[in-house]
Amino acid sequence: MENLVQKLRSRGIAVTPQRLTVLAVLENRRDHPSAEKIFQEVRRQLPAISFNTVYKTLEVLHQKGLVLKVNPLHEMARYDCCTSPHAHLICRGCHRIMDADWEPPQAFPPEALQGFFVEQQTLTLWGLCPDCQGQENRKED
Ligand SMILES: [Zn+2]
Ligand SMILES: [Zn+2]
Repeated sequence: MENLVQKLRSRGIAVTPQRLTVLAVLENRRDHPSAEKIFQEVRRQLPAISFNTVYKTLEVLHQKGLVLKVNPLHEMARYDCCTSPHAHLICRGCHRIMDADWEPPQAFPPEALQGFFVEQQTLTLWGLCPDCQGQENRKED
């Protein structure tokens, strides 16, 4: 918890029990949960908390750069507290989002950016996870 307090303070975010709990829940998960899933878990520790508060808290953490937002097509945003460079592997079968260690091989060429200021750079690969590949094969049998 002390670690999380420092994390919040380092980004100029006022420390509240709500923010601490949301961040703690997210730090314990590597499956990129939706706001709804985070809410369900936070509520076990803070029964009075509303979904709206959890959602707003996630937005604050995202704006301050403590939390990454992954936006799968046709699905709710999912959250990630791992902000070091990595790519996302998104399965279209089970909607699982996996982390892949990956750093951009080279900086984006400035002329391609046309003066655009990059705040977040992610790579997303879409496809089928090993489990779902097996299921597709069975369907074809
Ligand atoms: Zn899958
Ligand atoms: Zn991730």
